[in-house]
Amino acid sequence: MNVRDCFLSPPDEAFIASDMLARAADHFSRNEMELARDCIRSADMPEILKWRREVMAGYKPAIHGPGSKPPVPSVPKSERHPRYISADLKRRLLERDGYICRFCGMRLMHQITCKRIETSFPDATKASLPNWERHALIGGMVANYDHVLPWSKGGETTLGNMVITCPPCNYGRGEWTLAEAHLNDPRLRPISSTDWMGLDGAFQ
Ligand SMILES: [Zn+2]
Repeated sequence: MNVRDCFLSPPDEAFIASDMLARAADHFSRNEMELARDCIRSADMPEILKWRREVMAGYKPAIHGPGSKPPVPSVPKSERHPRYISADLKRRLLERDGYICRFCGMRLMHQITCKRIETSFPDATKASLPNWERHALIGGMVANYDHVLPWSKGGETTLGNMVITCPPCNYGRGEWTLAEAHLNDPRLRPISSTDWMGLDGAFQ
């Protein structure tokens, strides 16, 4: 298998829908709740859920590569770097990486922003349902903090060894190294410069 930048690129709908979410934030700021709710509902597109499921729900050779099971962790737990990611490190990663998944380019939001949307619009986001039945986009946009060299293999919890990713890119790779997953090192690509700022500060 050729080395790739990511397992599976997000569908175009993910970007159309995130624009809708930005529109929802504008309506929310003007207290136009019904219009905000309509935008959030429109952003709940099945194509996004399909993409998430393809990468996250089970191992598929065509997507994940030829390996059949995650290799055994190579570093004893007692010798691993602390795994805890401080709020400060999360902020620095989000700002450095521009709220964009460093593997696939998916737009991301801080977990707090996702939570605010769900709290303000529990019906439109289906916040009380199990994970796979909730809003397709919001679950795909929660920023994850990924150890490039997996923590279980001695990877450090530092700015240098971490990137922000979407949930599919993070969970799809699991404990595999980049080489095992046939992925290019995202740190070697320039960070995309976009005007997406994660809707930071919105929905409050
Ligand atoms: Zn991604």
